[in-house]
Amino acid sequence: MATRPPVADFIGIARRAGIVGAGGGSFPMYVKLQAAAEVVIANGAECEPLLHKDKQLMLRHAERVVRGLQLAGEAVGATRLILSVKAKYTDVVAAVEQATVGTGVEVHTLDNFYPSGDEYVLVHEATGRLIPTGGLPRDAGCLVQNVETLANFADAVESNTPVTESWVPVTGAVREPSTFRVKVGTPYTELIHAAGGAAVSQPVILDGGAMMGRLVTDFDTPVTKATSGLLVLDTSHEQIRRRTMPRPRVERVGLSACDQCYFCTEFCPRFLLGHPIEPHKVMRSLGFVCTSREYWSEWAAACCECNLCSLYACPEDLDPKNICTWSKQEVLSRGYTFPEPRDVEVHPLAESRKVPLPKLIQRLGLSEYDQPAPYADRIIETERLFVRLDQHRGKKAAATVAIGDHIEAGSVIASVTSDDLGCPVHAPCAGRVHEVSEDVITIELQ
Ligand code: SF4
Ligand code: SF4
Repeated sequence: MATRPPVADFIGIARRAGIVGAGGGSFPMYVKLQAAAEVVIANGAECEPLLHKDKQLMLRHAERVVRGLQLAGEAVGATRLILSVKAKYTDVVAAVEQATVGTGVEVHTLDNFYPSGDEYVLVHEATGRLIPTGGLPRDAGCLVQNVETLANFADAVESNTPVTESWVPVTGAVREPSTFRVKVGTPYTELIHAAGGAAVSQPVILDGGAMMGRLVTDFDTPVTKATSGLLVLDTSHEQIRRRTMPRPRVERVGLSACDQCYFCTEFCPRFLLGHPIEPHKVMRSLGFVCTSREYWSEWAAACCECNLCSLYACPEDLDPKNICTWSKQEVLSRGYTFPEPRDVEVHPLAESRKVPLPKLIQRLGLSEYDQPAPYADRIIETERLFVRLDQHRGKKAAATVAIGDHIEAGSVIASVTSDDLGCPVHAPCAGRVHEVSEDVITIELQ
C-alpha cells in the first residue's frame, strides 16, 4: 500500500496536480490551503438553475468528496468539517450521510434557493458566521471548496492523480439532457452531440448557467477544469436577448426607465447579509457625471454578480447587475479599497426574501427545461483535445511540449513558474502534440 504523503506536502500536491475551483471559479486550490481555517465547508449547494453535476458526482463518489474534505481540513488545521447539500436531494443526503459515518464530518442541509452556493451566503448558512465586507471566507475562519474540487484533491493526495477530467451537465434545449465526465479539452460540440443534439434551430450556450454563465457561440470551445455546465438555448430566447444587448443601450434604458422602486436592493443577497451594496443607488450613477457618479458607483463595490437583481427582482427588466459590474470595475480600477472591516448585521427580512429555485426558473422562462440530466456513463469520443493554458486564475501556463512530441496521459504539458499564481496543465490522454499556440495545446489522440 502506498504511503500517504505528510500534511506538509499537501499544498505542493494541490499545486502540482493542477487543482482549481471546479464550480466555475477556477481559483488555484493551493493558495486557499495556505491560510489556516477553523472550519472547512464542502460546497455542494450547486444553485445555478438546471445544473446538477455536483449532485451526480456526490451520488457516485460521496466518499471521495468526504475524503477530500478531511484532507483539506488537515491541511488548514480545521476543527470542524461541514458538507453542505440541498435537503431536497434526499438521495444525495442519504449518500453523503452514509459516507460521513465515523469521519467527524457534519452534513448540513440547505433550502432550495438562489444563491445558496455563494461563499458569503454559504458561510452564514453553514456556520452562522459573517464574512466582513470585502473579505474572504478565511476572514470568518472558513475555507470553502466545491465538492468536485475536494474529490480531485483526494485523488491527488491518495493516488497522485492530476486533474484531467471535468463533470459537465448538458441541459436546456438538447434532446437528451445528460451529465458527463469528460476529458479536459473536449469541444462543446461533442458534448452537445452526446446529449442528443440541439433541439432548436439556432442554438447558443450559456456556459456556467443562466445566472452567472457567459454566452458562448463558438461550439468548438473546449471543456476546462472549471467548466460547470452547459445550458443550451435558442438565440431567440429572452435570456439570450438580454445577454446580447449592447452596453450603451443597457445604460440608456436604465437611465430612462429606472423608477427607483428599490426591489433590486431588497433582493440583493449581499445587501440582505448587511453589506453596503444597494444596486438601486448604483442605477442613479447613470444620471450623474464627475464625482457624483463616483459616489453612487461605490455602492456596487461589494457586488458578487449573482444577477438576481436583473433577472429576478427588477420589474422593469432593467440590468442593475451589469451596471453594478461596470461600476465596480471602475471604482476598483481607481484603487478603491473597502473601509476597514466592520461587523455586518443580517437584514431582519433576509430569510423571507430567499428566492426559491422553482420561482427563479419560472421567471427566467426555463420551466420547460427543468428536467433531470442523468449521468451518462460513457466515453465521449473525439479525435483531438484542445487544452487551454488559462484554465486557472493567475498567470497563463507556458507550454513545455512542442509539435510532434508524444505525450503520456497525466504528464505535464504546460507550467507556470513557482513565483506566479497558477498551476501546471496535464495531458488528459496519451497522444501526439499537433499544435501549440499561445492559448491552446492541441493533442491528437492515439
Ligand atoms: S428594481 Fe429596477 S426599476 Fe427598481 S430600482 Fe432597481 S433597477 Fe430601478
Ligand atoms: S448582481 Fe445584483 S443582486 Fe447580485 S450581488 Fe450584485 S447587486 Fe446584488
